[in-house]
Amino acid sequence: MGLKVVKFGGSSLADAEQFRKVASIVKADPNRHYVVASAPGKRFKDDVKVTDMLYRCYEMVKNHEDITEYYAQICERYNGIIRDLGMSFDISGELEYIKNGIQHHSGRDFAASRGEYLNSLILAKFLGFGFIDAESVVFFRDNGSFDEEKTNEELKKELAKYEYAVIPGFYGVMPNGTIKTFSRGGSDITGSIVARAAEAELYENWTDVSGFLMADPRIVEDPAPIKEITYRELRELSYMGASVLHEDAIFPVRYAGIPINIRNTNEPEAPGTMIVSATNGYDTEKIITGVAGKKGLSVITIEKDMMNAEIGFGRRVLEVLEDHGISFEHLPSGVDTMSVVVSTAAVDAHRERVIASINRAVRPDSVVIEDGLALLAVVGRGMVKAKGTAARVFNSVSNADVNIRMIDQGSSELNIIIGVEEHDFEKAMNGIYREFVK
Ligand code: ASP
Repeated sequence: MGLKVVKFGGSSLADAEQFRKVASIVKADPNRHYVVASAPGKRFKDDVKVTDMLYRCYEMVKNHEDITEYYAQICERYNGIIRDLGMSFDISGELEYIKNGIQHHSGRDFAASRGEYLNSLILAKFLGFGFIDAESVVFFRDNGSFDEEKTNEELKKELAKYEYAVIPGFYGVMPNGTIKTFSRGGSDITGSIVARAAEAELYENWTDVSGFLMADPRIVEDPAPIKEITYRELRELSYMGASVLHEDAIFPVRYAGIPINIRNTNEPEAPGTMIVSATNGYDTEKIITGVAGKKGLSVITIEKDMMNAEIGFGRRVLEVLEDHGISFEHLPSGVDTMSVVVSTAAVDAHRERVIASINRAVRPDSVVIEDGLALLAVVGRGMVKAKGTAARVFNSVSNADVNIRMIDQGSSELNIIIGVEEHDFEKAMNGIYREFVK
């Protein structure tokens, strides 16, 4: 087996006990060369993530409040870890420097990034690994976008100097030297970037669940784990609300053809989920890979006789949405009707104006906006090859006594999307799941 890059999330590094688990995972396989670390996460349900505490400090300074007491709690999180690990490691200088930085307005991202920075320093010391500061290897451009090529080049050179190293996740540096973070959960992206630069054979992403599940466990009881999923299937499921991995984490490794293995720090023997670019096989028993969905959607339905003969009709409708800054999610259309599915939150502020503008733009027979729609996506690369999958999806929903409001099958045949009333969402999801997983 070749080189592995391993990323540990916040809950995997929340306290000394978790640090020990991480160390035993890393040390169990000498191929685990580079470790990307998050900031300490929650130790129990109502605990506060260190990243959130740091954001709070930043806000307090902005409001001219004294952070001394609150910041001391952050210091204690780290000192507690060091103490409980039985290490002798003095980070008081670092803690003081960071406090000063926050107090002297070094920026919101600087404050937030220090969670990863400190945790990685401690982890590197505990593992006996080198430390590579993300600040010297992860680059953003002036406009704030991530500079993939420069990062890849510099990171490659730096990694070559270390056989084993820890790299903090979540942040990098702007051309003017200030710290910038990715969006929340961004350590997943750093892990992916490091995996690409290291030309890793595998990117292991260690978290607190044993991989992806076929359905949301808050809705379906004890859903089966997904053993293998393609990047494209994952995109479909994540878009519909399944979240374990940051969406942008897929791109760097996807192009390099490096699979991601989602693993559970608290159950290291479980194989987790493999995310791969392509695979020949699929689960011939289950056919589908997963089912996900989201609520809070509205449908704008526009009717006009002979609509399909009118050139530019769709474009003019979409232009209205664009003018109001509304992006659309789906566009299922009939001969004389066009439906646009949008998020209710996005359309809410402009409801009346959107209707008026569509009236003006295309002079339809009617335009209505209906709320309370939920979408469900049944995703699976095996669906193309298995006859009758769509029929089974529709039957299972109607057997669950749910009315289907809308159907949309992507031409990729990777998914079937159905729209139902929001209050039927849970029933429909359970119906579909039970149809395919016995
Ligand atoms: N600590 C950061 C957050 O809470 C980044 C991460 O954990 O990936 O969002």
